[in-house]
Amino acid sequence: MQQLTYTAPHELQWRDAPDPTLGSDDAALVRPRAVATCDLDALIISGISPFRPPFPLGHECVAEVVEIGDRVSGLQPGRLVSVPFQISCGQCEPCRRGRTGNCTGVPWMSTYGFGPSVERWGGFLSDLVCVPYAEHMLVPLPDGVEAAAVASASDNMSDAWRTVGPALAEDPGAPVLVVGGAGPGSIGLYAAALAVALSAESVQYVDASLERRELAEAVGATTLAETPERLGPFPITVDSSASPEGLALALRSTAPDGVCTSTGIYFGEQPSLPLLEMYIKGITFKTGRVHARAAMPEVLQLAAAGALHPELITTRITPWADAAAALVEPGWTKLVIER
Ligand SMILES: [Zn+2]
Ligand SMILES: [Zn+2]
Repeated sequence: MQQLTYTAPHELQWRDAPDPTLGSDDAALVRPRAVATCDLDALIISGISPFRPPFPLGHECVAEVVEIGDRVSGLQPGRLVSVPFQISCGQCEPCRRGRTGNCTGVPWMSTYGFGPSVERWGGFLSDLVCVPYAEHMLVPLPDGVEAAAVASASDNMSDAWRTVGPALAEDPGAPVLVVGGAGPGSIGLYAAALAVALSAESVQYVDASLERRELAEAVGATTLAETPERLGPFPITVDSSASPEGLALALRSTAPDGVCTSTGIYFGEQPSLPLLEMYIKGITFKTGRVHARAAMPEVLQLAAAGALHPELITTRITPWADAAAALVEPGWTKLVIER
């Protein structure tokens, strides 16, 4: 089969790879139909992530089930499914507690499309992908949801959901601040869209990019171009900036006893935190990798209900054959590759 491979900074090649096999009665083979870019893909392709080439790319997709193992009963070939980027078993203690990103049934940080075990699992820009623990891993697409619209449910949409979903369930209607801008910036935009979908009283989105501010306004947020020292305060804040100034703004703008969640990845120098202010106000700060499988049904249901319109964040849809050229072309916020 053909597999799109990241071979050098700004360079992608279609390479031949052996067809994956089921390998287990619990597995399924799927054919990706709509693959979305993760914000991390832009950093990988530019060569500024810690992940060195070559490796197969792509870790967000909606796929069609092609073949199932004998013990997979809830899925049939032809079914469209959302595929989590992290591999998880569904049976270990972390999985049972919804902490599927830290599954102990597979090597740590087992993911498609990047990471220490990428050669074993492959990437989604491939003709076929093997999904172990298929009945647990694969989430059937709800009726009426377009594959391209929710291709990012595998990772970025779910990553955004965990920044506002649990906090708004705890504090219904609370106003939300999102500081966006990390990489291509889709996670912050999804966070804004999800806060609107989950009936936040107001959603303020901060980003220097005019294009992303327009997308945030399209999903119902009010926007600000500058990064002041503080705003609000807001009971719920989100740092999707991956910039020390953006993180500081989110933390200083968090109301007493509020919660600030950061999806930003700080690869280089570690930003300093306003710890005294956080202490005095009693702020909860959350960071860490998303547990994607646990969050995916939430975002898919919001899309199916018409409350969330993730297609508004998609900046380009491109045919499968043009994937390599489209991915190295700068400027996408959310690129979806479809066949
Ligand atoms: Zn990702
Ligand atoms: Zn597990």
